[in-house]
Amino acid sequence: MKHHYDTVIIGSGLAGLRAAAEASEHGSVAVLTKLYPTRSHSTAAQGGIGAALGNEEPDSPEWHFYDTAKGSDFLGDQDAIEVMCEDAIRTIVELEHLGVPFSRTSEGKIAQRRFGGHTRDFGKAAVRRACYSADRTGHAILFALFEQSELQGVNFFPEFHVLDIVIENERCLGVIALEISSGEIHTFSAKATLIASGGYGKVFRTTSNAYASTGDCLSILFNAGIPLEDMEFFQFHPTGLYGPGILITEGARGEGGILINAKGERFMERYAPAIKDLAPRDMVSRAVMTEVREGRGINGRDYVYLDLRQVPEEVIKERLPEISTFCKIYLGIDPSGKPIPVLPTAHYAMGGIPTDVDGRVLKDERGSVIHGLYAAGEAACVSVHGANRLGCNSLLDTVVFGRRAGMAINSDLRNTEKGSIPQSMIDKAGDEIDSLKNRTGDEQAGTVRNELQSAMTDKCSVFRTEQDLSDLAGKINELKEKSKKIELKDKGKIFNTELLEAIELDHLINLAGAITHSALQRRESRGAHFREDFSERDDRKWLKHTFVFKTDDRLEFKYKPVTITQFQPEERKY
Ligand SMILES: Cc1cc2nc3c(=O)[nH]c(=O)nc-3n(C[C@H](O)[C@H](O)[C@H](O)COP(=O)(O)OP(=O)(O)OC[C@H]3O[C@@H](n4cnc5c(N)ncnc54)[C@H](O)[C@@H]3O)c2cc1C
Repeated sequence: MKHHYDTVIIGSGLAGLRAAAEASEHGSVAVLTKLYPTRSHSTAAQGGIGAALGNEEPDSPEWHFYDTAKGSDFLGDQDAIEVMCEDAIRTIVELEHLGVPFSRTSEGKIAQRRFGGHTRDFGKAAVRRACYSADRTGHAILFALFEQSELQGVNFFPEFHVLDIVIENERCLGVIALEISSGEIHTFSAKATLIASGGYGKVFRTTSNAYASTGDCLSILFNAGIPLEDMEFFQFHPTGLYGPGILITEGARGEGGILINAKGERFMERYAPAIKDLAPRDMVSRAVMTEVREGRGINGRDYVYLDLRQVPEEVIKERLPEISTFCKIYLGIDPSGKPIPVLPTAHYAMGGIPTDVDGRVLKDERGSVIHGLYAAGEAACVSVHGANRLGCNSLLDTVVFGRRAGMAINSDLRNTEKGSIPQSMIDKAGDEIDSLKNRTGDEQAGTVRNELQSAMTDKCSVFRTEQDLSDLAGKINELKEKSKKIELKDKGKIFNTELLEAIELDHLINLAGAITHSALQRRESRGAHFREDFSERDDRKWLKHTFVFKTDDRLEFKYKPVTITQFQPEERKY
């Protein structure tokens, strides 16, 4: 079936929905999502969304700007960071007006809590900057934006899995998608296509990310010759529930929780004397792993405790109900009475599709754009988070840059002619599905995926070395060959989830290669990318963004200077 819209958006998380609300003011909009819209990973966001409202103590957008630049280990582009931090207050007011039920102070203002790396007076002490709705902040915002998009007549296509993004002569013409319930191929021709397809934490075994976070659209664009930026920077959140890796929000430490080792020491006092447990995530994750490596894990094992016993019970009940339930369900622990076993979990992709500050996708390190193609949210790299994202800055990023992409689409639409997807591309998508269904061999998608995820977690995690990364690169090649021998048992059309898993696996393998090779190239340590064999940050050689390109199955690296406007790189002490 063929559809025609002014704008097609892939993804109904916060970035996609905020852009949809904007773009629908000037044209027809379709939102495609491989899930039901409100099941997007944004709905799992717990702790908060950052803005220097100063409701609970003095704060300023400039301090927020400084913290974000420093948190990024000075790899974030400061023009973009400034845009985000300056727009944060307006954004929160707008969300409130849309009906987001933020938690309140006793005076009725939007309540705010502490989060990692957010400080007052340029690093003096932790500040209350995260606005929240208990520990269900993403859920609250997502539902408000979903209602708004529906009111504005946005057309939703739930359970449509995007197979291809069509680019011809440096112009995007729309997308090709599989309707999961029928197995039919649909085309969506559009003047503007926005990618808001979220992260790809599923390249790792232990992750806080949802099953759907497989990075399909990044991989599709990468195969089409669009570069990916800063893929070596993947954030590990220090407090994943030991075992399943489910997230315990940083808000738990913001409310007074502390990390302790086997000796009962509050070890973050040693690593970050000024803000301790509220240091940025890259530092806290390294500290946790160092404690474990040096034998101070609980009972000599590979985890530490997150201790909430000193947080008043009514605070846990009111502000952290969700994580409290997770602890009870998954570990049988009531966090007001017992400490929670935690270990770093793969959490957030700083790298992604390069864009300018208005969401236009860049096709090279010089800033040329692909017409009609936009990206926002976790799939994009604008880059505000640089080498390490601060907590509560991602929800902000999705809404600020989702809106800006929507605005850019509105202004670009006026000068864009309608295009339509050529039949040859539709045939190609059909042929690819047939060839997947006709593969023969004795491999299964699930098994190959498990092998990939384990290899990534073992060799490309909080600490990295040349040897591990080279071994991993070899393993990824091996898995790529194995994946060609996956034989599907389900050859049918209707709800063929086995087929979708095989497609997603190809994307995961593709992105794992981009991450590993980008990490091999960067011979320094910065933010979340820590090389034990090059343990210092090297601004002289490496204060630059990685752009990895894929041409004929070979990877090529180019680099782009970081935009520094206000804050020169300094030593990162907390
Ligand atoms: C557990 C957890 C807690 C978090 N807590 C916080 C927090 O408190 N504060 C904060 O700032 N950040 C938080 N984050 C990070 C933040 O939630 C995410 O970065 C952000 O929500 C991503 O939003 P998004 O709109 O980019 O994408 P997502 O919300 O991930 O949505 C992606 C969309 O793309 C669709 N999609 C993907 N591939 C395809 C395809 N092939 N075809 C069709 N559709 C497709 C999906 O169906 C989905 O609709 C958290 C993340 C996690 C995992």
